[in-house]
Amino acid sequence: MQVNILHTFFMAEKGKKIKEISELGEFGLIDHLTKNIKSDDKNLIKGIGDDTAVFKTGNTCTLVTTDLLVEGIHFNLIYSPLKHLGYKAVVVNLSDIYAMNATPKYITISLALSSKFSLNAIEELYSGILLACKNYNVELIGGDTSSSLSGLFISITAIGEAKKNDIVYRSGAKPNDLICVSGNLGAAYLGLQLLEREKEVFLSDTSMQPQLDGFEYIVERQLKPEPRRDIIETLRNHNIKPTSMIDISDGLSSELLHLCKNSDLGCRIFEEKIPVAPQSIAAAEMFRLDTSLAALNGGEDYELLFTVPLDKKEEIEKIPDISIIGYMTSASEEKFFVAKNGIELELKAQGWNPLK
Ligand code: ADP
Ligand code: MG
Repeated sequence: MQVNILHTFFMAEKGKKIKEISELGEFGLIDHLTKNIKSDDKNLIKGIGDDTAVFKTGNTCTLVTTDLLVEGIHFNLIYSPLKHLGYKAVVVNLSDIYAMNATPKYITISLALSSKFSLNAIEELYSGILLACKNYNVELIGGDTSSSLSGLFISITAIGEAKKNDIVYRSGAKPNDLICVSGNLGAAYLGLQLLEREKEVFLSDTSMQPQLDGFEYIVERQLKPEPRRDIIETLRNHNIKPTSMIDISDGLSSELLHLCKNSDLGCRIFEEKIPVAPQSIAAAEMFRLDTSLAALNGGEDYELLFTVPLDKKEEIEKIPDISIIGYMTSASEEKFFVAKNGIELELKAQGWNPLK
């Protein structure tokens, strides 16, 4: 504490403004902390800056990604069943491995628990973790366990493998490539709005039962997402290798801007092409939210956003559950969202920023 006060005093004396973390935001903070990291390791293909790190191990490549889930920030135990939470904690990591066009193989799990958790509760969490491992054919190979002063922390690291030439990065898109998205967007965010509403009702009267009828799909998208291994397999079966790819954890706008930045391109996407499920439309109406804004900025859909060369258009159109929503442009400063009324708006990342 003493040191911080002195530091603040001297920095203020020098007339320098001390930047707050909230000013930087999540990505600004990561950039700030990692901008001087350089590697001359000849086996390291990708360090910081993609869905996973990639390095060569013999004839194949190993991919590593890690995610931290914090109670009260990423999940609320009032409406997240522990089994679902365990499942989700695993699959959000697998989603990053699939987003590199790779196969997840192993995970490690680190837990910090407060004294409020019973053995039963942690067994429930583990039943979800092990179910996800079984469904996606990955092995749990280790972890760490600690106590926590407040709530539950779950950190999972996933390790995958791929052939070097199969791996797809955020940086490979080319001008005129088609921008594609799997499934539909905004459902997880709208599911969260519904769960939040029911939480408030429950807290004001604990005899109330949650009213989720007719919205089971969006609630499931929030509580128990599935990573799109099926899309990776389908694309492989059609001999289509995306030129760039990312999974949608922070919202379509945020992820598309990552593809643009890393590929040094612009983009144009069309509101009318963005896939939204009927239940999401109904929920958005109920909450008086704009469906497209929920799809653009909602996050946690864990769908895949990828680009393919223009000559793959016909083939892609034949594949169910993939939508072409726009195209990449060479004008790297122009990122456009074309609204249904034809007006072009600048695409901005307003996704979820936990540090603000
Ligand atoms: P994703 O949303 O795909 O999980 P993130 O946005 O969390 O990816 O991270 C972007 C990149 O920054 C990744 O390469 C990740 O490994 C790296 N990264 C995130 N946090 C840190 C950190 N505290 N220190 C170093 N690298 C980090
Ligand atoms: Mg990702």
